[in-house]
Amino acid sequence: MNKEPDAATNGYDDVNVDEEAAPMIVVEEKRRVGLAESPKTHHQGGVGSSSKSSSVSKGVLEGPKPKDIINIIQSEYGHELSYPQAWESREYAVNEVRGIPEKSYGKIPKYLYMLQQANPGTYTNYEVDCDGRFKYLFISFGQSIRRFYKSIRKVIVVDGTFLKSKYKGVMLVATAVDGNSNLYPIAFGVANSEIDSSWEWFLKQLKILIADDRDLAFVSDRHSSISISLGKIYPLASHGICIHHLIGNVITFHHGRGVADMVAKASKAYRVTEFERLFKNICNISPAIGDYLQDANVEKWARYHFPGYRYDINTNNPAESINSALRTPREYPIIPLLDSIREMLTCWFYERRVKSAKQKDPLTVEVEKKISRRIEKGKTFKAYPITRNRLQVKANGVNFVVDLEQRTCSCGKFGIGKLPCRHAIRGAYAIGRCIYPYADDVYTTATWRSLYEETINPIGVPEEEWRVPEVVESAKVLPPETRRQPGRRRK
Ligand SMILES: [Zn+2]
Repeated sequence: MNKEPDAATNGYDDVNVDEEAAPMIVVEEKRRVGLAESPKTHHQGGVGSSSKSSSVSKGVLEGPKPKDIINIIQSEYGHELSYPQAWESREYAVNEVRGIPEKSYGKIPKYLYMLQQANPGTYTNYEVDCDGRFKYLFISFGQSIRRFYKSIRKVIVVDGTFLKSKYKGVMLVATAVDGNSNLYPIAFGVANSEIDSSWEWFLKQLKILIADDRDLAFVSDRHSSISISLGKIYPLASHGICIHHLIGNVITFHHGRGVADMVAKASKAYRVTEFERLFKNICNISPAIGDYLQDANVEKWARYHFPGYRYDINTNNPAESINSALRTPREYPIIPLLDSIREMLTCWFYERRVKSAKQKDPLTVEVEKKISRRIEKGKTFKAYPITRNRLQVKANGVNFVVDLEQRTCSCGKFGIGKLPCRHAIRGAYAIGRCIYPYADDVYTTATWRSLYEETINPIGVPEEEWRVPEVVESAKVLPPETRRQPGRRRK
């Protein structure tokens, strides 16, 4: 792709200066990424009970549900099975393959110790209640934390998802997004239930690794446990709301399908006037939705108002994609679940190491595509230098002021996205400058490669050969109390 400065601009041809269609496309890309990146190979895990089936591949069949078992027994044997009987028989078969869930908890201390040995700098922790029953655990790979400070946008998406194993519980995930728009997991947790104390404990562990900072931003759904805990543990960082959750609520609870597009547009507005115009329209159409959005705190969901260093990350839902990659392992006992997460990361790191090594352009694959779209859209704009670094760029009759030194444009996009907007690109080319130096370092191929330099390693020895210190060997973790009666489970 040619991004050398081209000849002077000409013409005032009509060019649509509306927002690029990209943000909504990005959502779809992220969703696909999350699914497409689940490992396709089936490795033998070598980790306790997970060794028999620890794949997170979409190709893994989930097996019949209790209702299916009832139907199979009915049609093939003419025998009536009750739901509890069908459920028990399924549980029995699943345990045969993945290990007994109760026993999995007891292996937590040893597994975490061995995982740390295989992955230097990895931080893990767990906690039990006064009866020795499992409460929470936390894993963050040293490989990701070492790169987080140097090479990635300081926006962390936090989300929780319910587990479907016998003991239920919840998986907590903190993830960033790399310069190629791929998920970059920072930390995983498992908790007994998704209550305030679980999030508080998880975020306290995270804070051991990632300090509170005004330049740091968190994005989450409106789950109050997360908001409350973030306010307590990370008072300096900004806290935004994931726009998908907000729009979902607008559609579901406020019957606002008609205004959902407008809410999405308002959330993405780069200029205050644009935001205010859209927000006024929303309030006129539905005062109830207007009130709801006000209650949700404008600065938490609108890009223009968001105080943090947020780049363009509010238009997707990365944590949800991790959840979909781990859909099947969510049914596993705890150790196979943890090793599926490790396996997913091993695979992502490998694939991206290979992909980034192949990239010849200065910026990542996705960012080069974005730049190409912007070059195309800005082709007919006309640029007039004001000073050595400032230019007026005329786009479809609308004037924008680009400051290459400050890396800003009056459209707002250059400053927020840290990547030249179409006006800045047009301006830079008009005065014979290359645009690459104006892209933030996180978007460069060199930075992208550095994120995946290290490998995420499996525990290299079978469980019988794990050697752990006495204090780890003697640590006991009992399963949590089950909160349901066998056979009464609804999936
Ligand atoms: Zn611009």
